[in-house]
Order: sequence, then C-alpha cells, then structure tokens
Amino acid sequence: MSEEKEFRFECKRCGNCCSDKNTIVNVTYNDILRIKDALELNLDETNHILSFYIFDKEPTEEDKKKMVISPVETERGKAFVGLRKNPDGSCYFYDKENKRCRIYNARPNFCRTFPFSFSISDKTAKKLENLIEIKYTEKAEEYCQGIDNDSPLINEEKWLKLGKETLEDLNKNYYVMQKWNKSVQNKEIEPNAKIFLRIILNIEEEEKDN
Ligand code: SF4
Ligand code: SF4
Repeated sequence: MSEEKEFRFECKRCGNCCSDKNTIVNVTYNDILRIKDALELNLDETNHILSFYIFDKEPTEEDKKKMVISPVETERGKAFVGLRKNPDGSCYFYDKENKRCRIYNARPNFCRTFPFSFSISDKTAKKLENLIEIKYTEKAEEYCQGIDNDSPLINEEKWLKLGKETLEDLNKNYYVMQKWNKSVQNKEIEPNAKIFLRIILNIEEEEKDN
C-alpha cells in the first residue's frame, strides 16, 4: 500500500449503496456473463436487466481519464452499461423488504469491491501490497455505514487479491469495448443492444472452446 492507512469495513446492511439513485451499477462483459449464467437468462432477458446510460454531453479527455470503466458507443451516443434500475432509483436486484441483494453470488465486481476502489500504484512492484492501491470510494465516504471506527480492520490480503482480479477484469473489458467502439465508428456494426450482447455471448463461447 502506498500509505500507512488503516481500512475498516463490516457491512451494516443499511442498503445505501444498492438504493442510491445517483449511482450507476457499472458492469463489465464478464459481469454480464456471470449474471446471465447464474440466472439462466436468454438474450432478451439479459437485455432486460441492463440499461445503457447515455451521457448528457460528450466526455472531455479529462473526464475520460477519471472513468474506471470504458463507455460504449450506442445509436444515441456514448453510454455506460449498467444494471437496470427500479423507478425509485434503486438497483433492479435490490430486495428492499429483506435488505439483501437478489444476485449476491453473481453480483458485479463494482458491488463486490464496494466500499473500496483500486488502482495500480507501482507497475514495477513485485508484491501485491505495493502494486495495488486501495482507498474508500467517494460514495463510501458519503454514506457507507460500515466503514466507521466500530468496524473491524479489513483482511488486506483478501481485498488486494480482489482488487487485482477486478483491475484485470476492467482491463479485459477495456479492450473489448474499444473494439466495439471502433467497429461502430467505422460503421462496420450497428450499435444496438442485442448485437452488443450477441458479441459478448460469442466471447463466452470462444472462451469455453479454448
Ligand atoms: S447487484 Fe446487488 S449488491 Fe449490487 S447494487 Fe444491485 S442489489 Fe446491490
Ligand atoms: S452502504 Fe456500506 S454498510 Fe450500507 S449496505 Fe452498502 S456496503 Fe453495507
């Protein structure tokens, strides 16, 4: 870790992260495949659990640098792919009554890593704790009830391992989205949701064959 900071966390199941109307629950293509497989969804059903959140305005280069996940080109402009939301802004998979996630074992990495975010701190480092930087997300600082001083210290090894896996997943996703975006820009592909999903499903088939 880059600084000697202690991190504490124990989920208090307040539900703030799953019901925040201002948060998009971003998904990578691997997240989509994991949820599809866990719920045994067909293409139309997979399409139904997702939303394409269109940008209000074209992101600047500065905006792009801050983006953890790659935006995708759609027929209506650039968008983030995320889980669908209920009309009140909560996540489509949040069970409000029981305060639980209905797809807990298959939930996106975005949810698995909350309340933390990870970045590469030193590309030449040999040890995981020097390679990956961990911090609380801004949203966690804003409303997560599980990061106060009453919560236990985290198992850093476990979280750093998850951080590494998440960064690798984001990296793989980046290349797939770049390929998609280029094909759309070159007008080689029609940018609609079903074609997008078919391409992702094909990746899964190819990975199974290898
Ligand atoms: S997928 Fe589950 S953990 Fe993630 S925001 Fe939705 S309800 Fe919460
Ligand atoms: S905001 Fe924090 S404490 Fe509340 S449900 Fe989410 S992770 Fe748990």
